[in-house]
Amino acid sequence: MKKSSITAAVLLGAALGGFIAAPAQAAGLERLYILNCGEGVAGDISRWSPGVNEGKSMPFVDNCYLLKHAQGWMLWDTGLTDALAAKPEGQKPADPKATHWYRPKTLASQLEALGVKPADIKFVAVSHTHPDHTGNVEMFPQSMLLVQKAEYEWPGANNAPRFKPEHPVTRLEGDKDVFGDGSVIILSTPGHTPGHQSLLVKLPKTGALVLSGDAVHFKSNWDNRGVPAGNVSKEQTLASMEKIDSIRKKEKAQLWINHDKAQRDSLKMAPGYYD
Ligand SMILES: [Zn+2]
Repeated sequence: MKKSSITAAVLLGAALGGFIAAPAQAAGLERLYILNCGEGVAGDISRWSPGVNEGKSMPFVDNCYLLKHAQGWMLWDTGLTDALAAKPEGQKPADPKATHWYRPKTLASQLEALGVKPADIKFVAVSHTHPDHTGNVEMFPQSMLLVQKAEYEWPGANNAPRFKPEHPVTRLEGDKDVFGDGSVIILSTPGHTPGHQSLLVKLPKTGALVLSGDAVHFKSNWDNRGVPAGNVSKEQTLASMEKIDSIRKKEKAQLWINHDKAQRDSLKMAPGYYD
């Protein structure tokens, strides 16, 4: 009797140990908030999926995602510049087929409402260096930037650098497990730009999500594997979509498409959150 209860205790301990060890792998990530980082109207969505829905306009959104991890806060994308919030007429694109953007709420006000100061943000990672994703990078001058080397070194207009040279940066070459516990993984997904990246996050209750960046722009664009005419590489874009798709299947992950308004309208915005 005594012997068997010791055996039971040992077995229970082993079972608990096993139970605790498995989820601890991804236990560091606590919450994800979706922030409104812009809204707009795309003039002609065949710009992103050539030959499909020519001349059709569509509302677009622009999201930022704030992650609360036991080791600190991380911001994924910074959206359109907060300065745009002062312009009710928004920002009219040079190409009428592109997106006319508005900023209904500032990023700063949404962080403040959550009690998060810019200095609290440990990591800022941007999917790529288009202005609707990098508009507020300099709101976080102390935060470590996580950017692919290929994107960082991609010359801007008139050879201008894409980021302030004094901004702390880690130049990535491929995928990166940000906190070392498997809960937040940057995925190298080039094609839209030379060093485009997406993000795999594993939340304790919600499970796995892939945040697309601009590897894809909206659902039908994903369904028909549309490659925007302006992407730097069609081959890389298609390979990146396949990479996302295989990770999505392996991790049973949802794919959250940054600019897809219909999908975003079905999701909880901050101060609501996913855990
Ligand atoms: Zn883009």
